[in-house]
Amino acid sequence: MTAQLSAGSTIETRCTRCNGVLNHTIVAMVGEKIVRVECSTCHGVHAYHPVKPAKAPATAKAGQKKASSPRSAKADPEAAARAEWEALQPEMDPAQAIPYDMNRVYRLKNLLSHPNFGLGIVQLVILPNKIDVLFQTGKKRLRCG
Ligand SMILES: [Zn+2]
Repeated sequence: MTAQLSAGSTIETRCTRCNGVLNHTIVAMVGEKIVRVECSTCHGVHAYHPVKPAKAPATAKAGQKKASSPRSAKADPEAAARAEWEALQPEMDPAQAIPYDMNRVYRLKNLLSHPNFGLGIVQLVILPNKIDVLFQTGKKRLRCG
């Protein structure tokens, strides 16, 4: 399990100059921490700014209370995840799915195929070695890289 991010790896992060989340090449690291990156678009080298997860309007308060009724489907994070997965499903091409391998590095929006959970989309990359993946059965946090 030594396949970790290192200088030369590509990572998605915010470019201060392009003002968007773009591919960057890691140019300097301190330990496991990325300190400097080069934007693949404008080739500007700047400090690494971790990407903040997008605001999730409905799910922000989820997880505080136990669901009292299974009938309240709208508040059920599993049902929400399933609906989200089904909305994205037409864009999922199984031929392009990357088989899940905990030693591999994944990027945002990668399509992966998991032996137990099936097709999933990488929704969040948690450095240095975890990813949140949306599967039909819900969101899973998996180890990677
Ligand atoms: Zn840039």
